[in-house]
Amino acid sequence: MALKTPEEYEKSLRKMNFKIYLMGELVKNPVDHPIIRPSMNSVKMTYTLANDHEHEDLMTAKSHLTGRKINRFGHLHQSTEDLIKKVKMQRLLGQKTAACFQRCVGMDAINAVDSVTFEMDQRLGTQYHKRFLKFLQMVQDEDMTVDGAMTDVKGDRSLAPHQQADPDLYVHVVEKNDKGIVVRGAKAHQTGAVNSHWILVMPTIAMGKEDADYAVSFVAPADADGIYYIYGRQSCDTRKMEGGTIDVGNAMYGGHEALMVFDNLFVPWENVLMCGEFEFSGLLVERFAGYHRQSYGGCKVGVGDVLIGAAALAADYNGASKASHIKDKLIEMTHLNETLYSCGIACSSQGHKTASGTYLIDLLLANVCKQNVTRFPYEIARLAEDIAGGLMVTMASEKDMKHPEIGKVLAKYLKGAPTASPEDRCRILRLVENLTLGTAAVGYRTESMHGAGSPQAQRIMIARQGNIDQKKKLAKKIAGIDK
Ligand code: SF4
Ligand code: FE
Repeated sequence: MALKTPEEYEKSLRKMNFKIYLMGELVKNPVDHPIIRPSMNSVKMTYTLANDHEHEDLMTAKSHLTGRKINRFGHLHQSTEDLIKKVKMQRLLGQKTAACFQRCVGMDAINAVDSVTFEMDQRLGTQYHKRFLKFLQMVQDEDMTVDGAMTDVKGDRSLAPHQQADPDLYVHVVEKNDKGIVVRGAKAHQTGAVNSHWILVMPTIAMGKEDADYAVSFVAPADADGIYYIYGRQSCDTRKMEGGTIDVGNAMYGGHEALMVFDNLFVPWENVLMCGEFEFSGLLVERFAGYHRQSYGGCKVGVGDVLIGAAALAADYNGASKASHIKDKLIEMTHLNETLYSCGIACSSQGHKTASGTYLIDLLLANVCKQNVTRFPYEIARLAEDIAGGLMVTMASEKDMKHPEIGKVLAKYLKGAPTASPEDRCRILRLVENLTLGTAAVGYRTESMHGAGSPQAQRIMIARQGNIDQKKKLAKKIAGIDK
């Protein structure tokens, strides 16, 4: 099998043995848990669309390992065209789910680990790349979802990993033997963790010699003994427990993040992809972050499309769509959204081949892309709230709307333009609320700030890649300065 059906994906998750804590309880059935289920639906969409003839060009690719048709989420980019298709695929999925569909972190991780293990083997004579390709082929053949895990909890930010009061504040190797390694620590904000089959762990920062135990990368089954998850809560998440479809804003789809804890996890050597080669941890971070910063030029744009559509509908339903300032605000939202997309496409089109043959984006442009993502979705969300009006945050609950007496009163007073029913008006306002303040705001707003690295991380890369000296030379030449 090279492509799983969405049903097969769901079934495969049911067979897993995750240990997940959510609101103080151990979750027995994550797939059907009302808070987790919408996030599973989003990942499931990556399988649904790959099996849909209309989208196969974006959603699938030809494996460079086997020549078989595979899901693009398991593909190593073989050209700039592949990089561009990746961004287009992410925009499509953002449009279909209006949420984080989670599978990109694994795609970005396999692409980064491929080129870095190749270069590491070349320089140090290690044997990691072969192991990685064996894992990759299994991922492709079985159409697995992989969760890339990079961000450590980091403790005191002024201290290096080995200087922390508690050595577990960065993931590290605590034991090595002839069979493998034992790992302890935790990865924070793990997108899609409990909807994944495997995890691919990477170091979180560039490291020095004294941090060699922390320069560790490996793969493990996501439900391995020695891994457990503490599920992150989101604003308005308990609305999903109420059983309705209006107040949640987006009843079908969502995203999730969790704290992933390694409690003396044993990893056999065949699954270890870096162990002590601290000189390569910075390169791995730079490439993974670069790919994920490119990703945001696709996924956030697709979600932005839904938000712009919702704002335009809210204006229609309010009877305000002909007002010139509303039209102008929608133009501004579109302009900002398409600027992000332009950045995603630009850093992809200017990509280049690495030594392993896998294509890497233009790092400067990918960082510019993500820097814009730390700002523009906030402005798009501000304009959406402006257009939606205050009712978005003051309106009554779905239960009141469905109440035999109060419901009639609300239907009378929530009437807007004759083109929409009061219920449709509420549905659209709740969707805007969901994207700007509710569960999806994790993915659309705060993740736009901090996901794939906080703004300062991009500014450091922009400073490094910006080539100011070359620009000085240009200016000197034009100004007639010889020295
Ligand atoms: Fe994919 Fe975007 Fe979610 Fe990252 S934030 S996993 S790029 S959908
Ligand atoms: Fe993310």
